[in-house]
Amino acid sequence: MPSEIKLCAECGNPFKAQFYESYCSKCNKKFEREEFLEEAAVGKEVYCGDNPVCPWCGEEYEADFEDPDYYREGEHAMTCPECGKEYCLSITVSYSYDACRELPKWMAEDRRRTEEVS
Ligand SMILES: [Zn+2]
Ligand SMILES: [Zn+2]
Repeated sequence: MPSEIKLCAECGNPFKAQFYESYCSKCNKKFEREEFLEEAAVGKEVYCGDNPVCPWCGEEYEADFEDPDYYREGEHAMTCPECGKEYCLSITVSYSYDACRELPKWMAEDRRRTEEVS
């Protein structure tokens, strides 16, 4: 992909842009945050991505590894380290898939047993 130096349409700073981009990454981030806060302001649950983002001030911060609440699926009351306000963080544990042609032994065993019963 060819990239060129453009001036950001928002802040006027030069940045290396793809042909479809007109804002620098800093401004893009700012827009994202504004949009996030707009949705949070009307009471919506907004997707944060890899890190929690405070729905009051828009601060993105890293989950505290010491706090098991960040790793338990469900809704938790969190306090933003930036503005100190409390909010509800809803956590979804994500899954990944691995495939194998052979079924594990215990599963085959299990299946055999159910077949015997019926
Ligand atoms: Zn900019
Ligand atoms: Zn905050």
